Amino acid sequence: QARLLQPLIGLMRVALDVQTSAALFARIFEYLDLKPAIQDAPDAISVEHAPGPVGRIEFRDVVFRYPDASADARPTLQGISFVAEPGQQVAFVGPSGAGKTTVLYLTPRLYEAESGEVRFSGENVTRLTQESIIDHVGIVSQETYLFHATIRENLRYAKPDATDAEIEDACRKANIHHIIAGFEHGYDTIAGERGYRLSGGEKQRIAIARVLLKDPPVLLLDEATSALDTVSERIVQEALETASAGRTTLSIAHRLSTVIDADVIHVIDAGRIVESGTHAELIALGGLYAELAEEQLAASRVLEAETGSAEPD
Ligand code: ADP
Ligand code: MG
Repeated sequence: QARLLQPLIGLMRVALDVQTSAALFARIFEYLDLKPAIQDAPDAISVEHAPGPVGRIEFRDVVFRYPDASADARPTLQGISFVAEPGQQVAFVGPSGAGKTTVLYLTPRLYEAESGEVRFSGENVTRLTQESIIDHVGIVSQETYLFHATIRENLRYAKPDATDAEIEDACRKANIHHIIAGFEHGYDTIAGERGYRLSGGEKQRIAIARVLLKDPPVLLLDEATSALDTVSERIVQEALETASAGRTTLSIAHRLSTVIDADVIHVIDAGRIVESGTHAELIALGGLYAELAEEQLAASRVLEAETGSAEPD
């Protein structure tokens, strides 16, 4: 029985590592049901043996349609190409429904491209084991999943052998330690649906602490839109900067303040990258990015006028 259980525990650990969003959670449970939507190739190799630099991400003309989309529907991604070099900060912006989250899903092969290639550390993801890819990726998304377990256990999923001191250190860096320490039961507080309900901003910081514990070379960040008030927004922002430093970061940023410092910004519209460049370059281009930026500035000016307080930054 122990022998049978061992691989399952291995899978569980992988599964638990990425459980930050309900959608990913659902997909991983398909995986656990042993009906994986995506099978490893019989000769799949581990990311450690991939030929390229660790954490280099490349999309080559990726076309993708969701499995449940009708056959004649236009693909969700219609030929996406970009490169993220190790440690680079790459941001995706664009209208809702453009395909930004889908790009993040394809990166660790949670879905597979219909045509084109997604390459991870210089190897086509279809030739890598999914488990090893997921081991190299951290995710902070709009929905952080917490188990009905203690906060400490919720954090330790990210690094099963983490000491209490390491867990607290990660939480300090994620700006959440003082909150947890203030609970009556501290790190032993039960979280999850039937436990203590953390706020959206607190859950995001737990997700960031998980990333810091896991310390993966790649970070996927699907930023919350407007769930956070201005103060927690700034606190989460600072924690995200700590988490993304030194990692290849693909982020979907809704706030201009996040995007401005990115090494490169790709503007996605209807499944295509329509503009790429730095903030200054894209503003100078005067296209969709400039338009979206102007909309945000106008919105924050309205907010400023209404509340008498400016947005941070
Ligand atoms: P964005 O993050 O830019 O708002 P998404 O990548 O989430 O956009 O979605 C792109 C398109 O794919 C949208 O039209 C959306 O409705 C569709 N889509 C997203 N998830 C699924 C899914 N699981 N099944 C089918 N269609 C989906
Ligand atoms: Mg999205």
